[in-house]
Formats: sequence, structure tokens, C-alpha cells
Amino acid sequence: VTLQILLTAKKILNPSKPIHMFGLGLPQFFSLAVASGCDLMDSAAYILFAREKRYFTLSTGTKKLEEIEEFPCHCPVCTQYTPSELRELEEPSQIELLARHNLYLSFSELRTIRQAIKEGNLWELVEQRIRNHPSLVDAAQVLYKESPYIERFEKVYKSHGRMFSSIESLQRPIIQRYLLRIQNNYRVPEGVDFLIIVPELDVRGKSSPSVKEWINLIDNNMVISRERLHVVLLSPVFGIIPLELSETFPLAQYERSNLMTSKHAQEHCLKMISPFFKSHGKSYNKCAIIVPEEYTNQFDEVVKFTEDHPINEIKSYIEKETKINCTQFKHIQEIFEFFKITESL
Ligand SMILES: [Zn+2]
Repeated sequence: VTLQILLTAKKILNPSKPIHMFGLGLPQFFSLAVASGCDLMDSAAYILFAREKRYFTLSTGTKKLEEIEEFPCHCPVCTQYTPSELRELEEPSQIELLARHNLYLSFSELRTIRQAIKEGNLWELVEQRIRNHPSLVDAAQVLYKESPYIERFEKVYKSHGRMFSSIESLQRPIIQRYLLRIQNNYRVPEGVDFLIIVPELDVRGKSSPSVKEWINLIDNNMVISRERLHVVLLSPVFGIIPLELSETFPLAQYERSNLMTSKHAQEHCLKMISPFFKSHGKSYNKCAIIVPEEYTNQFDEVVKFTEDHPINEIKSYIEKETKINCTQFKHIQEIFEFFKITESL
């Protein structure tokens, strides 16, 4: 939101007028803010975080002092003390020294940004810094959307091929490991006949108000006994996540960029669901896929469900690869009758 305001203000104002941003926050956000039009800034984050015993890094975010074995930085504080020496000092000195380090790092980042601007590498710097946290990658999309506008001020046009680079995270070993476990170590709960696939939304598992509501409707339905229904989430990153595993690591604790629901990620998702159906497809008679028109996001706003979510593509895949009778529904309420028809046959 901050970036959107900044970009809008920048577009309206005379570009020669500087914009000052109050309370900019962490240094990994600076380059993104500058790229979005911020000319001057202030930030109290260095001391606020120091009071929480938090140590700034640019590469891996803020760290708790108690977690650090080695300081990665070369500032006067970090060269004079080791983390364990710092921990032994009185609290006010700890806070003062952490604040100094945090400030050194913030100023160093400002110099890095000025240098990058001179070299014409600000975009590259932004793309590195947003790798710090998935929410920065998402925030940067606001900036990418304004590319046609910003491009006018670029001396040389550069294509932003690295925009897809967060898709690389889909190659991480932890995802491959999940795939093997779901294929080889997982057992479908006993007595299950029907599979219900719901999309994983903006937040994981039952933290999503819509997913929670769907599960309530399933739990309290009067048509089909609950033991016969198996609910799984379709995650663009992990593929099929059985509901009973959705609170376990890493399925409940990961954050993904919305790029993971792009067309480019759909292929990945189909690859992810294939082992599940190969190993467990025979456990189900019928499958209902929930593709809502809208859902309630983590901020309790009703938003449109994206057509790019891989759940839009899996029906034809499941029909082709398995013999499960598979139908797509907009509302949970409709699925119970669909399952019930089998009963009377
Ligand atoms: Zn330092």
C-alpha cells in the first residue's frame, strides 16, 4: 500500500520535487522504496529493533541476538565484539551497540543504493533485496505493474526476466522431500470414499477464513458421514496437502509469492499432484473440486478467486490419469448431493 501511494504521488507530482518518506522501516526495503520514487527518508527502525535485541542483516533479514553465532558485518561494533561477548554486556550497552550496528548497516545500504543508481543497476539491487522476504517480492509487483511508466525514465530499457526467479524456489529440496513422503509414506485415512479438493488460499490451511468455513460445512453436513470424506488442500507449491497434515511443518509455516499461482507455476503443480494420485487414487470413488468465484482473505475482505490458481487445471488431469469420477463445484453445499447419488446407484 505504501508503495502504491508513493508511486501514485510520484506520477502526479512534478518529478523534480523530492518526496520524503517517514518511518521507512528495515534497510532491505530501502531500495524498493527508492525505486518507487522515494527521494528522502527517515527511519527509527534501527533503535526500535535494537531494543528488541534484533540485529539487521541485508541478506537474511533481522536476527535475534541470542540466535547469532557470528556477526556477518564489518562495522566497528561487529569487528570489536563477538555475539557472545555482546550478550554478556549490560542491557543498555547491548541495545546501544546493536543500534549502532543497525544504523551502520542502514547507511551502508543507502550508499549501495546511490552507487547502484549511478551504475544504472537499481532494478538489479531491488530484485536481490526483495529475496529477503516473500512479502517484499509481492510488494515489488506494485512496482513491476508500473514498469510502462517507470520505463520512460530508464536510460536503457532492460527486460525483467528475473521476475520469475522466485519460481526457482519451487526446486528446493524440501519440496522434493514432501513429494517423496506423500507418495511413499502417506496412508489415506481408513473408510474414506470421497475426496474433496479445496484450493489453498492467501494464508495457509485453516488460517484462511474461507477454508475454515468450508471445513465447518463439511464437518457439520447431514448428508454424508464425515469419516467417508477426505479433505485435501491444493497448494501451488506442495501440490496435494491432506488436511490432517496441513498444520505440520513446512506446510503450515511457508509463505509464497503470488507468482506461485501464475501460469508458469501450474505445470509445477501438476507435477506435484501426480505422485499422490498414482499412489492413492484408488482410495476414492468420487472427487469434488472446489473452485470458488470469490473468497475471504486474511484481512476479511471478499476478493475474486484467481483464474490462475492451479486448481482450475486439475480436473482434466485427474480424469485423464485416474478413473475417479471428478466434478468441479463453486460451493461446498453442492458436493454432498453429488456424493449421495453414488449411494443410490
Ligand atoms: Zn555491524
